[in-house]
Amino acid sequence: MKNIIDVKIKPQYTNEYQNRYPLIQKEIFNDADILKEEGAIINLLTSNNKFIGRGYYGRQNKGYGWVLTYDKNEEINTDFFIKKIKEAISNREYFYEQGKQNITTAFRVVNGEGDGLGGITIDYFDEYYMITWYSLGIYTFKDMIIEALKSSTEYKGIYEKKRFDTKGQYVENESDFVCGTEAPKPLSVKENDVNFAVYLDDGAMTGIFLDQKEVRKTIRDKYSKGKTVLNAFSYTGAFSVYAALGGAVKTTSVDLAKRSLAKTSEQFAVNDIDPNSQEIIVDDVFNYFKYAVKKQYKFDMVVLDPPSFARSKKMTFSVSKDYVKLLKEAIQITNKNGIIVASTNSANFGMMKFRQFIEQAFKELSGRYDILETFSLPKDFRVCNEFKEGDYLKVVFIKKR
Ligand code: SAH
Repeated sequence: MKNIIDVKIKPQYTNEYQNRYPLIQKEIFNDADILKEEGAIINLLTSNNKFIGRGYYGRQNKGYGWVLTYDKNEEINTDFFIKKIKEAISNREYFYEQGKQNITTAFRVVNGEGDGLGGITIDYFDEYYMITWYSLGIYTFKDMIIEALKSSTEYKGIYEKKRFDTKGQYVENESDFVCGTEAPKPLSVKENDVNFAVYLDDGAMTGIFLDQKEVRKTIRDKYSKGKTVLNAFSYTGAFSVYAALGGAVKTTSVDLAKRSLAKTSEQFAVNDIDPNSQEIIVDDVFNYFKYAVKKQYKFDMVVLDPPSFARSKKMTFSVSKDYVKLLKEAIQITNKNGIIVASTNSANFGMMKFRQFIEQAFKELSGRYDILETFSLPKDFRVCNEFKEGDYLKVVFIKKR
């Protein structure tokens, strides 16, 4: 049985939580020390003992846990998770249909608090499911949640990623396979008719970030034909592959990680593109930019999709501190009338601030630009109105004048 703790929250937070703010934050407690056991059920109460909501204690980078229900009579048990997961699945009918038609077979099924289940995500990879646990607290519900997933849908196999430590880092497991049959290595999935080789049991990442699917499609369908494309922070080269399929004359992918070379070659190869016809560079983007500026290289399109935070041997990069600098260098190696696709997944600032970064970068170079289109999360990455921070993705297509 789970421990249940009744907590009166500080009066100044009553309104916010009655209005269904889902993230349980440290500040709302008079004495956060009463929270000891990860996974304990918490009943949030007003100072007059009125029930507000029920959630669980689970420390993660964002906070202390999540509210799961506002119904006093609703218990957190397997039936609760079945209800939530079934709801989430029925909200993705469109995506399952795309899967059946073999157009897009990888998408998100449960997006944390966006689907009322803060602290986990569940992704679909061609009939395999990947559960990501963001705290030890939510992981204590593992048996219930796996049981619930199994009884909500058909599946070939279930995998998991643990991202428990307070910074949200991946916890190394002997294997991430949970049950069912194991997926091929690699597992071949499709997104907008493009092939991807994904690895469900090979460390922190699978090889594809599912939240960029619309951006990738837009790059392929509207911006690539006849263009030279630089993909900075390219990882497995997903943007490059789409650009090449859209008719780019050449793509250049730059990533610091050594394995990005083999991974990117593989993604080209599974789409029948000769990796040798493309340039794949293992280097620090900041080094490469300096080099490219010196050599006066110019590209028709530059994709910038850095991590929110990264530490390399020489420096640390953080989006809020360094994006302007990054943009300025990108602007200098972009042709006139060329496109910069500026992307960030940082939840620390919104679209307004991101557009200010763009404004500032062009201003400092006395350059002019037009914003052509912007993107946020796709529909399978559901967000809730009460938690706007959950809508973290910001992508802006900029035309340099
Ligand atoms: N754009 C990619 C995802 C990027 S993930 C995609 O669409 O799939 C962030 C990547 O940035 C990682 O692969 C990491 O190796 C790389 N990276 C981090 N710091 C870097 C740096 N200074 N220079 C080049 N690559 C870097």
